[in-house]
Amino acid sequence: MSTAAPTFPAVDPATRQPFAEVVEMTPAQVDEVVRSARDAQRTSHEWRFPVNRAAALSRLARLIERDGAELAELECRDTGKPMAQAVADVAVTVRYLEFYAGACDKLEGRSIPLGPDVVDYTLRVPWGVCAQIIPWNYPLQMITRVAAPALAGGNAVVVKPSELASQTPIRWAQLAVEAGIPEGMVGIATGHGAVGAALVDHPDVAHVTFVGSAATGTAVAHACAERLVPVELELGGKSPNVVFADADLDRVVPAVVKALIQNAGQSCSAGSRLLVHADIHDEVVARVGDALDALRIGPGKDDPDLGPVVAQTQLDRALGMLDTARREGATVARGGERPAGHEDDWYLQATLVTGVTPGMELFREEVFGPVLATTPFTTDAEAIELANDSPYGLVAGVWTRDLSRAHRVAAAIDVGQVFVNSYGVAGGVEIPFGGMKRSGYGRGKGMDAMFAYTQVKNVCVAL
Ligand code: NAD
Repeated sequence: MSTAAPTFPAVDPATRQPFAEVVEMTPAQVDEVVRSARDAQRTSHEWRFPVNRAAALSRLARLIERDGAELAELECRDTGKPMAQAVADVAVTVRYLEFYAGACDKLEGRSIPLGPDVVDYTLRVPWGVCAQIIPWNYPLQMITRVAAPALAGGNAVVVKPSELASQTPIRWAQLAVEAGIPEGMVGIATGHGAVGAALVDHPDVAHVTFVGSAATGTAVAHACAERLVPVELELGGKSPNVVFADADLDRVVPAVVKALIQNAGQSCSAGSRLLVHADIHDEVVARVGDALDALRIGPGKDDPDLGPVVAQTQLDRALGMLDTARREGATVARGGERPAGHEDDWYLQATLVTGVTPGMELFREEVFGPVLATTPFTTDAEAIELANDSPYGLVAGVWTRDLSRAHRVAAAIDVGQVFVNSYGVAGGVEIPFGGMKRSGYGRGKGMDAMFAYTQVKNVCVAL
């Protein structure tokens, strides 16, 4: 890489100060990274053996563990997230690597009976070079979530981290080499959106994964359609927790709070809508509001409950959406301001908005900040209708003690993942994840990702 390459700063959201420089790659540099990945994937003999890929991914897991403290600190600094969440992200990263190390030799083919004179069988083969464009909210987990199954399936990857948080993906790629993954097999393309667009357009890229906003995802899908390249789209969400009158509120309240404030609300799967039965609405709103008021806010390194959002633009977006909510007739019942003593910083109080109706922006659009939109319902049918009245369909939580209602409602909500009497599981590495509607298509995580990153090849042998 040329030393004269232009760079841009990596900024610590807690201090708003730069702490590192990141290369803004030129199209020629992107081309070089993709060609290296292509050559590595085509020429590495050892990479064709699942057992070698498994061993390399296992070694990478051990190196991530070895450097866990350093990686957590870097993640906390680059994204602003509380230290405990960054530490948890390292643990999830290790789990992904172990899971996909174990999956390398589990991709079996089928034998298809065509009669005594033919042997027909299927293989699952890699695509070649997979381009993987990821956002800034979980950079370490995210590179692992997309790159580990692609590598396990025998591909090379070129990952484009977000310009807002590239540090841990860069480190991940260095550790991959130390783990013995062949040089070039993991490429990193740093820079802004144009670098992502150049990757998607590169003729040697055979498969694209995009994790980010629906708007950019639409542009990426267009570009992939032009080249007839398959794309996995993991986009945003406006996910509801649906709380029925018979729910165990001692479990509901902490789960609703956690689903909102995780990563300062900057999670695709944030539980950002609370649909609650009218009979318990006031009690739930009061209890959730009190819990939000009690949260400790501060820089990620002090391990608060709520850290800063990642950038001024993100704060402005949240504050602007709260202004619109007020104008549209909703009530900002708790929070809604920058906390005292942080007037110039990128913090927002955990915020609860009541009286949010389906026509309002806050009901429909992702804030990507700690803002909860609350809406009452009276019947099961109305709860389902409200849950589905969204452009997005990523995750839902259903809270009830009635088993039949739980299954009926889980079946009726149009999302990729439903949790009953919980919201999320630690890591969620093993279970398929992805969206319906504007939350995208394709499934990541678990064995579904192994199928996404390989394609079926049929071999028919006449005897
Ligand atoms: P974004 O769409 O702005 O950017 C995502 C990535 O795309 C970045 O690396 C960016 O540089 C790159 N990019 C920008 N323009 C591009 C172009 N024209 N071609 C190719 N790449 C381009 O999203 P963001 O603000 O970084 O992330 C927040 C969004 O990500 C939210 O909507 C969130 O819900 C979503 N998200 C989804 C998931 C999921 O798994 N479903 C997970 C995390 C975040």
